[in-house]
Amino acid sequence: MILTLQIQLLPDTDTAQKLKATVERFNEAANWLASKAYERKLANGIALHKLYYYVLRARFGLSSQMACRCIAQVVEAYKRDKEVQPSFRKHAAMPYDQRLYSFKGIDRVSLLTLEGRVLVPMLMGNYQREQFGYAKGQSDLMLRKDGKWFLLVSVDVPNGPPIPTTDFIGVDLGVTNIAVTDDGETFSGDGVENVRQKMHKLKKSLQQKASDLVKQGKRPKNVRRKLSAISGRESRFRRNTNHIISKRIVEKAKDTGKAIALEDLEGIRKSQKRFRKPQRAKLSGWSFFQLRTFIEYKAKRVGIRIEPVDPKYTSQTCAECGHCEKDNRHTQASFLCKVCGHKDHADRNAARNIRARALCQQA
Ligand SMILES: [Zn+2]
Repeated sequence: MILTLQIQLLPDTDTAQKLKATVERFNEAANWLASKAYERKLANGIALHKLYYYVLRARFGLSSQMACRCIAQVVEAYKRDKEVQPSFRKHAAMPYDQRLYSFKGIDRVSLLTLEGRVLVPMLMGNYQREQFGYAKGQSDLMLRKDGKWFLLVSVDVPNGPPIPTTDFIGVDLGVTNIAVTDDGETFSGDGVENVRQKMHKLKKSLQQKASDLVKQGKRPKNVRRKLSAISGRESRFRRNTNHIISKRIVEKAKDTGKAIALEDLEGIRKSQKRFRKPQRAKLSGWSFFQLRTFIEYKAKRVGIRIEPVDPKYTSQTCAECGHCEKDNRHTQASFLCKVCGHKDHADRNAARNIRARALCQQA
């Protein structure tokens, strides 16, 4: 299973300057080469190499291996769509292969720049450290908008040997709660909702500010920058929360020797739509797709099976007697069966149905 680790780099000011100059030059060269490739309708790496390798080195000062990567990068982009001339942002991520970088232990990486190699400290979490040993092939050097540096490292993590299981943990992904398991463990959306509301207020006032500036004939550049920083923060918060929830669910499965039953992708697609109206903005932006992906790969890594389940009617069906009726769902949060009177938290009832379906599919 191939994953990408996003490892933060901590270059000092001088080193950061060198990295920046290198990335900018690389993209400048790539744009130039792209114009040549487009002009000549050439998407062949060997042909471009023959024509332009020495030009790239002499004119842009790229090292031999940087020139090779530059050609490969342009060929790849151009092949994707031959109708348009590929263009690269000034700070587009720059590919580093094993001749351009090497890890020095687990806390430093050596990177080639236009001015020779630099040694840069890396900041890694425990999770990243675990995966790090499986790093392979090409990485990307990236300067984020907020000025932080990252190395995007591909790792090929072996799947764990499959653990034989006969039972499932049913997981319901929802609105009131982000996730609930069939035994009632709840991953509440409250903290998330607070952050969302705070960010929302902040965004609104910034947007107001921006439009005021525009009315005055000024360019709201700083405000725009702040806005984009907020959405960056928001998405990192979401990602982190999804990591925590998925980790806990997979641990639970491992501890109890069960597989995991989850809504299939189709269900998630539909539920994104379903949530929008009644719940308005609340969690509508939550990435259930991301959460599902995280659960899936963390499970695979330790050999736990995921059973996808069609979630249709799981929220309206009674987990005790099987009676299915729209009115069973008393409120968004509570379930009350019209036939047998079974009462439960709505999400937990749904999670029990998801588990039951997985058991049926297995039989
Ligand atoms: Zn019932």
